[in-house]
Amino acid sequence: MAAHQEKKTSEERKRKSTQNDTRTSQVQWGRAWEVDWFSLANIIFLLMFAPLIVYYFIMSCDQYQCSLIDPLIDLFTGNKHLSDIWNKTPTLTYRAAGIYTLWVAFQVFLYLFIPDFCHKFLPGYVGGVQEGAVTPAGVVNKYEINGLQAWIITHVLWFANAYYFHWFSPTIIFDNWIPLLWCANVLGYAVSTFAMIKSYFFPTNAKDCKFTGNFFYDYMMGIEFNPRIGKWFDFKLFFNGRPGIVAWTLINLSYAAKQQELYGQVTNSMILVNVLQGIYVLDFFWNEAWYLKTIDICHDHFGWYLGWGDCVWLPYLYTLQGLYLVYHPVQLGTVNAIGILMLGLISYYIFRMTNHQKDLFRRTNGNCKIWGKKPEYIECSYMSVDGTKYYSKLMTSGFWGWARHFNYTGDLMGSLAYCLTCGFEHILPYFYIVYMTILLTHRCIRDEHRCFSKYGKDWKRYTAAVPYRLIPGIF
Ligand code: NDP
Repeated sequence: MAAHQEKKTSEERKRKSTQNDTRTSQVQWGRAWEVDWFSLANIIFLLMFAPLIVYYFIMSCDQYQCSLIDPLIDLFTGNKHLSDIWNKTPTLTYRAAGIYTLWVAFQVFLYLFIPDFCHKFLPGYVGGVQEGAVTPAGVVNKYEINGLQAWIITHVLWFANAYYFHWFSPTIIFDNWIPLLWCANVLGYAVSTFAMIKSYFFPTNAKDCKFTGNFFYDYMMGIEFNPRIGKWFDFKLFFNGRPGIVAWTLINLSYAAKQQELYGQVTNSMILVNVLQGIYVLDFFWNEAWYLKTIDICHDHFGWYLGWGDCVWLPYLYTLQGLYLVYHPVQLGTVNAIGILMLGLISYYIFRMTNHQKDLFRRTNGNCKIWGKKPEYIECSYMSVDGTKYYSKLMTSGFWGWARHFNYTGDLMGSLAYCLTCGFEHILPYFYIVYMTILLTHRCIRDEHRCFSKYGKDWKRYTAAVPYRLIPGIF
């Protein structure tokens, strides 16, 4: 009887402590619950100015041969008014709306209705139905991984059209670039607004929603964690990968086709941009299952940041080098071209191997070899909202022993390689490396803040073992 009572009391204590832990983890794990003034100011700035930044860059190429300074000089000297620039800007056209609608509908079709067959014949490729990470509410979502297949089908059709069917010109994207920008904005705002409304009225998983009470923050950073329509249409997976990233390589191909049309040849710099960014995009789709474990899918909620960002920011600003090269066809000397190619390939190797090491380590729960040795790691634990305790490991060897985010370092070196293809005449193509440095440094800090909230003192042990973030010995 006494033993029974003691068991009951201990269970009660355990339940209470679990409830407390639950509340603590609910407050701390994942994106913020409370918004400070600095974050709010940044968010309002981005909501107001990010669309203008994209417009400014694209307009500079269209009207000022990619000079970022000349429009400002024209405006400040009174040579031109804002209305002159605006009046020269191509408007939304029925043709662009048709192209864009067809494009997005086709990608939705490929995503939803063609189950993956690539994993059946490509050795080493992980596709088909895969599981994501545990969400803060303790849910494990299933995803249909068929991005590589969508990419291949889309590109086969693109080349079939360019060389055989001739339904449309391969310069179609470049030729409609600004009208398509308006379409991308319509979709970006529509999907972000829809996601916000959905989170209030019909969330996919109410326990994984976060409301800060601040409209702007919630709109920007998202409320729902993994919004879905039906069982399989996952907003984050779809908008992150398609239509933006599938389009990336097509956009570059369209720029190359435009160079060919304008100058009768494609420069080696354009080929380098197509090859290096093509490797990055293919890598993304080859590793789409791994992508389920990255921050975008594991931790970010779906709001304007991802919705609009994937529809507009990514396809328009990540492709600036190719766009620039249409206006300034740089032909690199052999030594420079080989140097940039080597930088691009080495960066890619670092980026891929670092990501691969973590993925292998996590998949095998540490039962693997990293650089021929058993990996070293720190054991850590965390709680989900329902109070369940989970265990995890943080690797401290391989590239993860050099710095806490050496994958970002590889990504940044690769970004620099893309920019260098454009020479040094203008700053516009260098926007990418500046932006990626800000994005990945901020992401690194954001991630570390989140990891600290999640793992507490275990994270401190990890940062003591691996003291640098990006560059060993420096930062
Ligand atoms: P990471 O792949 O580095 O994932 C960070 C997470 O990994 C942490 O939150 C933590 O998650 C876990 N982790 C951290 N340290 C360790 C460790 N030592 N051992 C094991 N697990 C660890 O970050 P991202 O998802 O941001 O990036 C993935 C790739 O995508 C990067 O290469 C990045 O460069 C690229 N990227 C590119 C972008 C672009 O726009 N081009 C944008 C964003 C990313 P947990 O909670 O599971 O412990």
